[in-house]
Amino acid sequence: MMNAFSIPDFQELAPLIASRGKADVLRALGGSQLSIKDLAALLSPAAEVYLPEMATQAQAITQQRFGRVIQIYAPLYLSNYCTNRCVYCGFSAENQIRRRCLTLEEVEDETNILKQRGVNHLLLVSGEAPKLMGVDFIEQVALKLKDRFASLSIEVQPLTEVEYARLFAAGISSVAVYQETYDPALYQQMHLSGKKSDYAYRLETPARAAASGMREVGIGSLLGLGDWRGEGLALGLHLAWLRKHYWRTGLTVSFPRIRPAEGGFQALASVSERNLTQLIFALRLFDHNVGLLLSTREEARYRNGMVGLGPTRYSAGSCTAPGGYAHEDESAEQFAVDDIRSIAEVCSAIQDQGFDPVRKDWDSCFQAI
Ligand code: SF4
Repeated sequence: MMNAFSIPDFQELAPLIASRGKADVLRALGGSQLSIKDLAALLSPAAEVYLPEMATQAQAITQQRFGRVIQIYAPLYLSNYCTNRCVYCGFSAENQIRRRCLTLEEVEDETNILKQRGVNHLLLVSGEAPKLMGVDFIEQVALKLKDRFASLSIEVQPLTEVEYARLFAAGISSVAVYQETYDPALYQQMHLSGKKSDYAYRLETPARAAASGMREVGIGSLLGLGDWRGEGLALGLHLAWLRKHYWRTGLTVSFPRIRPAEGGFQALASVSERNLTQLIFALRLFDHNVGLLLSTREEARYRNGMVGLGPTRYSAGSCTAPGGYAHEDESAEQFAVDDIRSIAEVCSAIQDQGFDPVRKDWDSCFQAI
């Protein structure tokens, strides 16, 4: 690969943010094209009193760019086998959970249920165990599902550019790969063994996915590991780098906050709803076109309150265990979701606020053009 994204020094991000004052925040709020320093200002403690102004601007930008819509998607967990030891995750190799890998027939059963519930945008998720859930199997799943779903995304182990291109040809249109933390030292403490302990390889993965021709690439930090403000600025740097080098690729950012999971990991850093809201508004003001995802990790009340203010995509009716739509099995979950409403209930709550829950805004036939 010719280009590689890197963060010059993660430890310098926090002081940069802390040095921003009221004048910097007001300058950022008055600008139309924000710099990284402007983003640092919006993430700073000095911006907290300007949250209402940030909300007004984030709302206007989101509705101007995306309209009064929220796209709905659901995850389908293919496997919970994993060879990595990530200390925060229920699927970590050292946790004694019921493990399973779906067969193609079981994938069919799960997707029949999701189709009946009105799901058209599907996110295929798997732990990282390439010998059990490799590219061959994911390709077979994609070929089987591509004509039944408007779009197929993956959140699986990092792949090579050639492998991503192969999956794109099979019908996968987007890739989500979260760095979890952009702080290299903390990253090593959180990822004890396995391929995922290679910080640099993971950091380069979104670029490989974009270079393969994927229509969309998603990045994110797992909130609750490190300082959320520094993670937010790192996300902005990563986003800007991807925009510059892969301007044809659609980009999204997720904001997963740590949820209870097997292993009992407790968040290392607190990230309140107010903090999360500031982060979402800051990134919306920084990048008007980025898709912002708010998953069922957040509770219904919060997700209802954020409709129209920045996020553009909600998961709904999610189950985080493989085979869990047909047979509920909490012992095989990656984490417990907080918003447990059905897809219909989530859509109805969005409609009640005058927004359209969009179940289909793409078709795989466009991918062939
Ligand atoms: S976060 Fe991903 S790679 Fe790490 S243990 Fe969980 S499933 Fe495996």
